[in-house]
Order: sequence, then C-alpha cells, then structure tokens
Amino acid sequence: MSSSTDLLVIGAGFAGLTAAALAARRGMSTVVVEAHETFGGCAGFFRVGRRTFDVGATTLSAVQSHQPFGRVIEELGLSVDLVRQDVGVSIRMDGATIHRYADIDRWIDECEQHFEGGKGAHRRFWTRVHDVEREIWELLASTPLSPLTSIRSAAALLHPSVLKHVGKATGLVRPVRSMLRRYGLDAGERFRRFLDEQLLISTQNTTYRTPWLTGVMGLAYPADTWYPRGGMMRPALELYRSAQRDGADVLFRRRVTALRRDGMLWHVDMVNTVGENQHHETIVAQNVVSTIPIWNLEGIVHDGVRRWLSTYTQRFSTSWAAITAYLETDTVIQLPSQYLQIHLNSDLPFVASKSIFVTISQDTDVQRTSSGTVMTVSAHVHAKDWEHLSEDEYNRRRVVVEEGILRAVREALPELQHSLRIAGFGSPATWQKYTGRHRGYVGGLPHDIRRPLLMFPPNVTPFSGLYLAGDTVFPGQGTPAVMHGAHTVIRHIAAQ
Ligand SMILES: Cc1cc2nc3c(=O)[nH]c(=O)nc-3n(C[C@H](O)[C@H](O)[C@H](O)COP(=O)(O)OP(=O)(O)OC[C@H]3O[C@@H](n4cnc5c(N)ncnc54)[C@H](O)[C@@H]3O)c2cc1C
Repeated sequence: MSSSTDLLVIGAGFAGLTAAALAARRGMSTVVVEAHETFGGCAGFFRVGRRTFDVGATTLSAVQSHQPFGRVIEELGLSVDLVRQDVGVSIRMDGATIHRYADIDRWIDECEQHFEGGKGAHRRFWTRVHDVEREIWELLASTPLSPLTSIRSAAALLHPSVLKHVGKATGLVRPVRSMLRRYGLDAGERFRRFLDEQLLISTQNTTYRTPWLTGVMGLAYPADTWYPRGGMMRPALELYRSAQRDGADVLFRRRVTALRRDGMLWHVDMVNTVGENQHHETIVAQNVVSTIPIWNLEGIVHDGVRRWLSTYTQRFSTSWAAITAYLETDTVIQLPSQYLQIHLNSDLPFVASKSIFVTISQDTDVQRTSSGTVMTVSAHVHAKDWEHLSEDEYNRRRVVVEEGILRAVREALPELQHSLRIAGFGSPATWQKYTGRHRGYVGGLPHDIRRPLLMFPPNVTPFSGLYLAGDTVFPGQGTPAVMHGAHTVIRHIAAQ
C-alpha cells in the first residue's frame, strides 16, 4: 500500500502530537505514524484495572501564553485541567522536609533555614536564577533560536532581541558550580547535593557540568509546576483530538523502518502490525518531522543523511536510562505537593541517582483512580547495569530496587506503611520495548558545558523537507522543550 501527504510525523509522543496538531490546524494534510498502540511516548500512560498510571513524565510547566505549552494551548484552544502546585515539589533530605515554594520570598526563607550560605547569599542567588530564567523565556518567545547550521541561523543571532542577551552567552559554557562560588554558596555540601539532584531530573546533569543558562531553567522550574488532572494522558489526548479534528490521520502500530529521499519527496517505509498479519506500507511525503531519538533515526536513514546525523550521534553517544516503579495503595493521602523528591539515605544498588522522584495522584483525581492513590516513581540508571542480564539476575536486581523504593517511600509517608504495593516496574529494557528508544535512553540529551546547547542537532536539517523535533534535538528534553521544537519546525514548514 502507498499513499501521500504534505507532512508525515514519526512518533506520537508530545513532540509528534504537537507538530501534528499545529500542522493540521494550518491546513496541511498530516499523517502521524506511531509504533506503539497508543500515544504519549515517554509521557504516556497505562492502565491496571481501573487505575491509570503515568509511565514517565508527570509534571507540566511553561503553561503561560509566552511559553511553549501555553502558546500551544492558546493556538489550538486546548482545554486542559491543570492544578498549580505551590509547594511545587516537597523534598525529603537528611530527615527534613524542604518545601520548594513558588513564591520566591518564601522559598528564600526556606533555603536560609535548611542550607548553609552567608547572609543574603540565597536571596542574591535565587533572584538571579529567576531573573535569568525570565529573560530566557523572553528570548525564546521573540526569536526562533537554533543551532548554528546555516547562514540563516547565524543571522538570527544578530537580531537585536538576541544581541541584548549576548553577555549571557558565556553562561552556556560556565557551569552552575562556578556561579555558586560567585554567590558564596559553594561551601555548602548539603546545598550542592540538593542542587545536583534537582538538576539531574531537569537538565540530566549536575552542578559540575550543567551550563548556567540551562541550569537556571532547571532550578526555576519547580516554581512553575502543574499537575494535570487525569494524568499526563489528558493533555496528550487533547493534542491528539485537536489533530484529528483538523483532519490529521494518527496511525498506531506502524513502525518506520526506512526513510528514503526520491527527488523532492520522502518515502517512508513502515511495518504495519495491526491485526494478525504484519505487512509493509510506504507513505510518500513532502515533509517529514522525525521525533524519534537521533540514535534511532540514524538506523533508518541512508547515505548523506546518515553521515550528517552520525556527527551528532558520535558527539552525543550516551545518555541516561531510567527505572520506574508504579505503586498503589487503597489509602487516600493529602500532601502539600503531588511531587515528592526523596533523597536516599544510602546508595541504591543499580541506581545512579541519589534520590527518587515520586508523583502521587491527587486525592480528588477520580480519573486516575476512583479509590486510593497511584504513584509513579523514577530514578536515573546507567543502561549498562540493566543490559545483557540473565532472567534470574534481572529479577534479582529488580527486587533489590523495588524493595529500596518501597522502603524510601514508606519512610517518607509512614501512613502508607502497610498498604503500599508495587503495581508495575520499568527498566531500560521496558522503555526500549514500549518506546523503541535506543538502549532505553530516556530523558533527552544531558546539558553539558562540554557540548553546549547550540551544538545539539538542529530542528531544520540541511536536507530539504526533513525536520527534527523531540528530546534529543534542540532545545532538549522535557515536554515544554519538545513542544517548543515542534512549534519551530511547523512554523518553518508553513513559511516555506
Ligand atoms: C521517567 C521519566 C520522567 C520524566 N519526567 C518528566 C516530567 O515530569 N516533566 C517533563 O516535562 N518531562 C519529563 N520527562 C521527559 C519527557 O517525558 C520527554 O522529554 C518527552 O516526553 C519526550 O517526548 P518526545 O515526543 O520527544 O519523545 P517520546 O516520548 O519518546 O516519543 C517518541 C514516540 O515515537 C515512537 N517511535 C519510536 N520509534 C518509532 C518508529 N521507528 N516508528 C514509529 N514510531 C516510533 C515511540 O513509540 C514514541 O511514542 C521524563 C522522562 C522520563 C523517562
């Protein structure tokens, strides 16, 4: 079977759904092909009985109209039920509970109470973090920034709205750690541990290596945290419905196996696994937006495209993987925040982070569960610790990690001591199986002073009609960033 379209989008995660919905709204004939049986990707969901679990991503942010998700909500008229979190995240650390308030004055008081630092140091530091974060949002809203791959992208950097921020560019190669020194906060071991774990879940790196400019985004984000009622599947469903209403076809169980250029058109070969007999299909498209990780894309392109892409896959050859545990309890709990970061008292074997991130369903969120509470727990792991294991060894590691997670959550929430159960577990192999992602790498490319953001793969490639979005290309990981990338791509295609 062969058909044709203006635009073909590979993947129905947040990047792919956003690209498809925006393109369809602009009147482009649009087809999305997704290997899995449903949408969402790393921000997807699954059900156990009548309970709905987020698979990975659980927090939303950047929902104001000058920010990526807010822009998409406004442009498409989406209706999403979001609950502002203030406390954005609760952090359990060294026996204390630290509330990450959205209000900056309350947050500074909290820091002064819990962390070392000279008089006024936290005020100066956090005020600067939030000021720079605001300026970066302003810059992103006014200028379609992109890595330097063409004269056009270099010219964009000469725009006055960019030039006034040039002084900040050194923040792309200066680590957060050096700024701690400048603000007199580098002596505090506890504060650094706190920042390291927060940066790990936002920039995928620690204070040593995270560039200051992207570090401020990671440090400020808990002040802008939103809980989607119904789980992450609700905003994803809104994007999916919007795309469909505007005429896009979203085809599930289609795994793209090859992407070939023929004249001005792209031929996209795929395996259709709907029904009992899998078969091959090809869709011909004028434009293709790939939202799959760059390592996966490299495996399905040829010749010049593969050579071009390999410079990036070599530059970004490794990434983080994750383990996830899905917990349930019949007890209903009310907490200051639905988000809880628990610093572990001792290292958890086969886990690389020193904290786990726990998301707890809201007590009134009956779309998630009509009774009790569901939780998604995640932590960083090295893919190599979970690869090539015998079944016995895999199960042994799984049990060690599950027990460690249960212990940590029970300690943090003693009211659940006897009722907490494991409902599911995800390792890098699970992530690879359900999202297809190479080696189960998730969370996007780590932000690193040695490979600054402008060295990320660009959204617009040198190959006419081929575009990239998703969390392994500019501007990186997290749902707001991938929506920003998708928006840039669609604006570019529409302008052609
Ligand atoms: C444990 C965890 C927690 C996270 N927490 C947060 C959070 O709280 N907030 C936040 O904003 N972000 C969070 N993130 C990051 C966020 O989930 C991702 O950056 C984002 O969802 C990536 O979206 P994407 O569309 O780029 O990629 P994906 O979600 O990976 O989507 C790509 C899609 O492509 C499909 N696909 C792959 N190969 C093929 C193929 N050959 N043919 C067709 N389809 C294919 C996959 O099935 C998938 O659906 C978290 C990630 C993880 C793993």
